[in-house]
Amino acid sequence: MFKFKYDEKRRQICPLSGGKDSTALAIFLKDKIPNLEYVFCDTGSELPETYEYLDKLEAFLCKKIVRLNSEKNFDYLLKKHSDYLPSPRARWCTIEMKIKSFEKYIGEDLIESYIGIRADENRQGYISKKDTIFPRYPFKEEGIDINGVNKILKDSGIGLPKYYEWRVRSGCYFCFFQRKIEWVGLLEKHPELFEKAKKYETQNYKGDHVCFTWIEGQSLKDIEKNKEQIKKDYQKRMEKALKKQKGKNITDVFKETVNDDDQEDACLICDL
Ligand code: SF4
Repeated sequence: MFKFKYDEKRRQICPLSGGKDSTALAIFLKDKIPNLEYVFCDTGSELPETYEYLDKLEAFLCKKIVRLNSEKNFDYLLKKHSDYLPSPRARWCTIEMKIKSFEKYIGEDLIESYIGIRADENRQGYISKKDTIFPRYPFKEEGIDINGVNKILKDSGIGLPKYYEWRVRSGCYFCFFQRKIEWVGLLEKHPELFEKAKKYETQNYKGDHVCFTWIEGQSLKDIEKNKEQIKKDYQKRMEKALKKQKGKNITDVFKETVNDDDQEDACLICDL
């Protein structure tokens, strides 16, 4: 019988982001590590679909998911950072709203932390660099790729998070890693959250021009104005990608198409 090896002297922790890979990993590790702790760092700005997905997972695991709330909310932290919105080059939000609460939770304990990077991926990103943390990559260790992850999710009945219909990453509703088509998705699925995100931009007006926007060089007002064109462009790209990648499921092709844009990877603790 397959036996998963782990260090019994260390605390065993599986951080969840609300995304499909960390969820599949939680399912994969169920019953393999008796004292495994499932942990979700809640920024307070997550999508409603993320909470729904976590509740579903919690019921499946029959185990509580520890939810760590960021000590300070985004509005407070934005003021602290002089109204500078976070960006791929200034990811203060990940450190302040995710990593700090995770590091406080683990304290100085020695831990094994399970990360859902798949065997077919070569992702890098922000994770805690504390030297008491020993990172483990079970999907890499066991050769589990995208098809393996999809199978785990399907067989468990958990499936994909609902936001995958219009967005390819977990995390805050205003996450600056979103591509234009995902902002359009937010606008259509959660107009009130889109409005909130837009207000953070207008808060940063200095004189008569926008100083800080979620997308470099473009405001969310522009996205709203150009929404139909953005949808048409993605539709075309999707059709092309689907023809090229016959047999792949539409969600994976959507993710690849969206991620094709030349942009940095999201943070691992937010999006896995
Ligand atoms: S999801 Fe995006 S906005 Fe939220 S903490 Fe992570 S990087 Fe920052």
